[in-house]
Amino acid sequence: MRVTQALIPTLREVPAEADTISHQLLLRAGMLRRVAAGVYTLLPLGYRVVQKIERIVREEMNRAGGVEMLLPIIQPAELWYESGRWNVYGPELFRLKDRHDREFCLGPTHEEVITDLVRQEVKSYRQLPLLLYQIQNKYRDERRPRFGLLRGREFIMKDLYSFDRDEEGLEISYRKMYEAYTRIFTRCGLTFRAVEADSGAIGGSDTHEFMVLADTGEAEIVYCTGCDYAADVEKAPCRAETKDVCEEMLDTELVATPGARTVREVAEYLNVTPDRIIKTLLYEADGELVAVLVRGDRNVNEIKVKNFLGVNQMEIALENESEERYGLPFGYVGPVGLKEKGVVKILADEEVMYLRNAAVGANRMGFHYRNVNPNRDFVVDNYGDFRVAEEGDLCPCCNQPLKMRRGIEVGQIFKLGTKYSKALGATVLDEQGNEIPIVMGCYGIGITRTMAAAVEQGHDEDGIIWPVDIAPFEVVIMAVNQRDSLQTEIAEKIYQDLRNAGIDVIYDDRTERPGVKFKDADLIGYPIRLVVGNRAITDNLLEIKLRSTGEIIYKEKGDAISYLREVLNRLRKDNNLT
Ligand code: ATP
Ligand code: MG
Repeated sequence: MRVTQALIPTLREVPAEADTISHQLLLRAGMLRRVAAGVYTLLPLGYRVVQKIERIVREEMNRAGGVEMLLPIIQPAELWYESGRWNVYGPELFRLKDRHDREFCLGPTHEEVITDLVRQEVKSYRQLPLLLYQIQNKYRDERRPRFGLLRGREFIMKDLYSFDRDEEGLEISYRKMYEAYTRIFTRCGLTFRAVEADSGAIGGSDTHEFMVLADTGEAEIVYCTGCDYAADVEKAPCRAETKDVCEEMLDTELVATPGARTVREVAEYLNVTPDRIIKTLLYEADGELVAVLVRGDRNVNEIKVKNFLGVNQMEIALENESEERYGLPFGYVGPVGLKEKGVVKILADEEVMYLRNAAVGANRMGFHYRNVNPNRDFVVDNYGDFRVAEEGDLCPCCNQPLKMRRGIEVGQIFKLGTKYSKALGATVLDEQGNEIPIVMGCYGIGITRTMAAAVEQGHDEDGIIWPVDIAPFEVVIMAVNQRDSLQTEIAEKIYQDLRNAGIDVIYDDRTERPGVKFKDADLIGYPIRLVVGNRAITDNLLEIKLRSTGEIIYKEKGDAISYLREVLNRLRKDNNLT
C-alpha cells in the first residue's frame, strides 16, 4: 500500500473525546473515528489490525476443530421468549420492530439462534461433537459506552458454540478452547492471564475470563506469584484471618459518637483500628431486607452474597431508604437487636466470628456500642465467605500471598450445560434411542476490544507499539526526500522487493518533510521503519529502526530483506508455540 493512496488522517493533538490511551492513540493514528456513542468507523489501517487479529483467531479456531459459519444479526423475539431471555436481558438489548409490528433484536450474542439451528439439523449423537463459530458485529446498548473500542455498543466478536452429548464431551471442548485462547492471545503478543470468573446470570458452572493485564482495565484480578492461580476478585475465595480470638469478653457499653458514621470516623472517635469494627450493610434482596456484616477494613462481595442467597435482584439500601423506609439510622446500623427492626436475615463474613469486643452501630442516631461479641450479643443466620479478596490474602491453592492487578477482559469461555438446549428442545438420540439434551458451551473473543487492549499494553509517549503479528503493516519504507529521484528509485525498488518477498510493507511516498513522516511512523507504530537517504546512494546503506527499542542500524541493500525477516521473527513472541 502507498500512503498517498490510503486514508490515514493522523492527528497531532489529543482529541478531547478520548478517555483512555488506546482511544486517543487509535484516533490520532488515523485508525478510528467516532460515528455515535460507542459506534465507530474503522479506517484502512485500523481495519487491517482487525483483519490480522481475525486471521489468528480463525487459524486457531479451525485448528481446534471449529467450523466457521455466519448467523444473522437480526434475531426474532420468539427465540428469545423461548429461552426466557427477552424480558431478562434488559435495556442492553437493542430491540426493533418490522413494518408488521413483529419484534426483533440486534444480536448481543447468539445462543438462541444457533440452538434453534442445531435443534432442527442435528438429530443423532453421531453428529456430535460440533464446534460452530462466527466472527461478526454484536450489538449491546451498554449503559456507559466508553474507552473507544474497549466498550462499544457495536463491536466485533468471535463467538463459538460447542455441542456435545455429555459433560465429558463438554469438558474436552472446553479444554480445546482454553488452549486455543491461550495460543491466540500469545500470538497477538499480549501479556494475559486466564482467570476463574463468576458465572453470574448466564448460568452454568465453569468459566474463565482471559484478561490482558493493564492498569486501565475495568476488572480487578488477584493472582498468585507462587503458582498459576488467578481469579477475578468477584470470584476469588477468601480465607478468614483469625486473630484476637482468645481475648476476654468485656461488658458492652453504649457510647455517643455524634457525627461519626463511616468506619474511619468511628475508628478515630473510639480510638480503635478499623479491623476492630463490624461494618453492617443493608441490602434489599428480592424484596426482603438482609444485613451483611464484615470486618471494618473489608468490603462486602455482593456477588458472593447474591449467589449464596440465590436471589435475582439485590440492591444496597442507601441513606434515604435506610432511614425513611426502615427507620434505621444510616451510619449507625449494627447487628444488636437488628432482627426486631425488620431485617429478615443476618449474614456475616467468617472473620466476624473471630472478633472480640468489637465496635458496632447501636441502631440509634449518633450512638455505637463498644465491646460487642458475636453469639453473645447478636446471632447470625449464616457465616460464610462474603468479602472481597485483597492483595496479601493467601492463595487458596498454595498459601502464598496474592497480588492484585487490573485487567481487560478480552475473552471468556463458558460451560452452559443444558440451559439453552432444554429451553429450546435441542436433543439428540443416543445409542439406545433415548432423547437426550445436548450439552453446550459458549466461547467469545472481543476482536475490537483485543485491538484496543494491545494498544493499552503497547505504547510510549510517541505512539503505538504494535506486536508484529497484529501491526497494520510490518514495515514502513520511506525516502528522506521524496523529490530526490535517486532516493525514490531505490525506495520504489525495495518496496517492490519486500512485497515480492511476502513482507507486509507500506510505502510512505508523501512529499512531506522527513520529520513529519518519522512522527507518523512512530505514532502509527509500525514495528520496523526503513529509510532511504543519501547513504543509500553513497554507501549503499539503508537505515533500519525498531519501533519497540528505538535501535537504529545500517544494512547493505543486498542484505536488507534477510535481515528484516530475521528481525520480524525475533519480534514474534509465539516462537515457542508448536
Ligand atoms: P463485560 O463484562 O466487559 O461487559 P461481557 O462479560 O458482558 O463483557 P461476554 O458476553 O463475555 O462479555 O462477551 C465476550 C467478549 O466480547 C468479551 O470477553 C469482550 O472481549 C467482548 N465484549 C463484550 N462487550 C463488549 C463491548 N461492549 N465492547 C467491546 N467488546 C465487548
Ligand atoms: Mg464476559
